[in-house]
Amino acid sequence: MKKGLLITISGPSGAGKGVIYNSIIERMPNIKKSISVTTRAPRAHEQEGVHYYYKTIEEYQEMIARGEFLETAAVYNNYYGTPKKPVFDMLEKGYDVMFEVDVIGAKQIKNKYPECVMIFVMTPDFTTLEARLRGRNSETEDSITTRLNSAARELAEYTYYDYIIFNDDIDKAIDEATAIITAEKRRVTRNEAHIISILESKKLR
Ligand code: 5GP
Repeated sequence: MKKGLLITISGPSGAGKGVIYNSIIERMPNIKKSISVTTRAPRAHEQEGVHYYYKTIEEYQEMIARGEFLETAAVYNNYYGTPKKPVFDMLEKGYDVMFEVDVIGAKQIKNKYPECVMIFVMTPDFTTLEARLRGRNSETEDSITTRLNSAARELAEYTYYDYIIFNDDIDKAIDEATAIITAEKRRVTRNEAHIISILESKKLR
């Protein structure tokens, strides 16, 4: 497999990771989105192949059996997974790939590809997270409790992450995510082939 940069972005719902993810994709043309497969029903504005690939549980299980996932996890009673082939195709074309996945999925990707960069997005505190979830007016009391508990469980896994963004200002959070990715791209270890080719061109003269 070609060595592109793999980046995961995780964090509780309401922390703003979706907005950061979409802004990175817009700002950094070499980074491509990984479109996940899910068994949850599409929301009103969502489109097949744009937001997710929607499958029945049976179809999803067949994909697992055929070994088609890079990672897969159950989140809020539905399955979500990253199909391998599009990721390998994007890397083959020289792109970097970014995944919006839960903590379990991010850990699976990191286990397979330890050089992958894991970013966690959180609010500065739980009060802000709860206020954001309530502000959406779309969540039931039960769903708010589930999401807050799951946020605490995800944050408790902090030692697995490389970076954390405390999103108290979305523009600043997007700038921070951009800076993290830019710095990771410039690591010497990720640029050895380029450095050596420059050195070799010098020897030719
Ligand atoms: P939603 O249903 O709101 O679109 O997503 C719910 C959660 O599922 C989000 O927190 C998101 O990070 C996670 N998720 C989305 N796609 C994937 C995936 O392919 N793999 C894993 N492990 N989690 C995912």
